[in-house]
Order: sequence, then C-alpha cells, then structure tokens
Amino acid sequence: MDSKEPLILAFDTSCDDTSVAVLKGRKVLSSIVSSQVDIHAEWGGVVPDIARREHEKNLPMVYDEAVKKAKVNVEDIDYIVATYGPGLAIDLEIGLNFAKDLAIKYSKPFIPINHMEGHLLSGLLENSKGKALAEDVEKAKEGDGLESLFPAIGLLISGKHTELIYVKKVGDYLKLGQTLDDAVGEAFDKVGRILNFGYPGGPTLTEFAKKGEGGRIKFPVPMKDSNDLNFSYSGLKTSALYKTRELREEGKKEKEWVYDFCRGFMDAIVESLVIKLESAIQQYGNVKSVFVGGGVLNSEEILREVGRVARSYDLNYVYPAKEYRGDNGAMIGLVGYYKVRSGDYLEVEEEIEKVDRVPRLTL
Ligand code: ZN
Repeated sequence: MDSKEPLILAFDTSCDDTSVAVLKGRKVLSSIVSSQVDIHAEWGGVVPDIARREHEKNLPMVYDEAVKKAKVNVEDIDYIVATYGPGLAIDLEIGLNFAKDLAIKYSKPFIPINHMEGHLLSGLLENSKGKALAEDVEKAKEGDGLESLFPAIGLLISGKHTELIYVKKVGDYLKLGQTLDDAVGEAFDKVGRILNFGYPGGPTLTEFAKKGEGGRIKFPVPMKDSNDLNFSYSGLKTSALYKTRELREEGKKEKEWVYDFCRGFMDAIVESLVIKLESAIQQYGNVKSVFVGGGVLNSEEILREVGRVARSYDLNYVYPAKEYRGDNGAMIGLVGYYKVRSGDYLEVEEEIEKVDRVPRLTL
C-alpha cells in the first residue's frame, strides 16, 4: 500500500522563507526551510526585493538538500508542486518557475498550490514514520478514518492572514471571515516595534506576557460585538501606541509595566480569536473538528487556548507540529497529495508553462 503512495516534490517561496520538501503521501521525507528572518530584521520587516535575491541564491541549495535528505532521485519523483499564491509576486515566481522548469525538464506532472490551503491542512502532515502530531488525527486514522474529521472550522493565523474557514471536506472551503486590516502576526510585529523589541515582535511579546499579570493593563477586545466572523487589529495597535505614550509620559520605567502591558495585549488577541471561533462553531453546529495553521501558533499559549475552545465543544483539534507552523514546503506537498488523489494535475508542457503566480489568491 505504502509503496503506491505518490512521491511529491514541493516548493514554497511565497514570502521570506525558501522551502522545499519531499513527501511520500502524507509522510514528510524531508522539509528544508532556509529562513531569512535575520536579514529582514535589519529593515523591521520583509523587503520583497531582498527576499527575491535570497530565494534565487538559496533555492538550488535548499532543493539539493531536500532531495538528498529524502534519499530520492529527482527521476523517481511522481509529481512536482509549488505555491502560486497568495504572497509577494516577485518572490512567488522564483519558486514557481524553478518548479515548473523541473517538471518540464523531467516530464513530471505539475500542480500549482494555494499557500493558505497548505496552512489549513498542515495538521494532517505525518512524520517519516507515518505518525501525525495531533493525537486526534492518529485516533481518527485508527477509527473511522480522516474523513471523520470533517466538516471542520479552520482558523488560520499567520503574519499576513487571519481567517475563519468552513471546511466541508478537503478541497471544499467557504471563507467565513477574515481580518479587515492587519493580521494577528502584523499586530505583534507593529506593537513589538512600538516597544522596541525588534523584528519579529511576536516571540518577545509572547515571552513577556508570561511574566505579566492579567487585568492590570487592559486593552479593548477587537470586534467583540461586531456580529460577524471578521477580525480587526489595527485599532488594537493604535490603542497600544497611545497606552505606551501615556505610560512613558508618566515617567515610569519600562520594565515596571512592560510585562503587564504584553499580558494585557495578549489577552485581547486571544479573546478576539476565541470569541470568533466560538461563534463560528455555534453557527455551524455540525462540525467535528477545529483545524488551525500559521506561524502565530508558535505562541504555545495561542495554540493551547484555541485547543481549549475545541475541547469545550467536544471537537477534534488538528494542529501542525512546530516545524510546520511557519511557512514550509511540506504543507504545500500535502495539498499536492490531495490534488493527486482527486486527479487535479497538469501533464501537458504548454499548460504547465502557462501557470502564473496569483499574489492575491484566496481560499
Ligand atoms: Zn504562510
């Protein structure tokens, strides 16, 4: 059975990470991510042009490493897949063109992949031994199969996206809500900048929040009473800016209030996510699981609090292993695997050549 699973080579260069992975079905044989975070930190955020230069430089090496680590030859690969959107246009095309060229050169079927579908399904990835990290996924495999995890509510929280999705089954999605301005990741970075944490701001903010006391510095919970499933974080960022000014003008030393500040900010973010997720679950009463994906889940607290909501409604919780929370090629390969199963791939050279990036692609 296993030997029949397709061997998939996957690429993602949608933002600042250069990533290539090799999968056998849902199993990750290798997943190499070359992060540019230190380079962009100097500029306080991702600079698309610099990212492009780094992708061009790193991609051939990352590709070599991924293939070597998986112990495969490119001739043995069954399908080549790559992200075509959403993301930064000039960065997307580096990975997409590299993958298309390989597919044409080696006469392999090619599949363009939506990056956000990768984040959404990342909790279904398995290690090379065929084990998923999320306990509920393993249970479903042993029980009624992965189909029993659906329908589900998907919550995507990354640097650029904050979205709620109704997942009828793999490949069948309905967007329920999204951020009207900043994503959670952007809010972390912007507030991190206000507090001089450097880029990215999320990790320090999360660490400091652990040391603070709740309720001492409060922030309004965004979109609490908006009666829809959308998010908004730019107002929260503005109130964080005013609050910082106020505290600094009072002349208090930063270390006297910064932990409580981060605690209060984190509480507002978590509560906004919990409120919207709960309303989505209540509105779509038949769901079996909560799927989460995106780099913001590197905050263990957010991962845990969202999981608590899933548990309280007796739902499965499908979340990615740590290495698949940020951008990675493995999640792109996983979507590729499902496309292969539904026969959704391109084999004709002219059709492969025509695939173009779609920077504003949505689910
Ligand atoms: Zn992403």
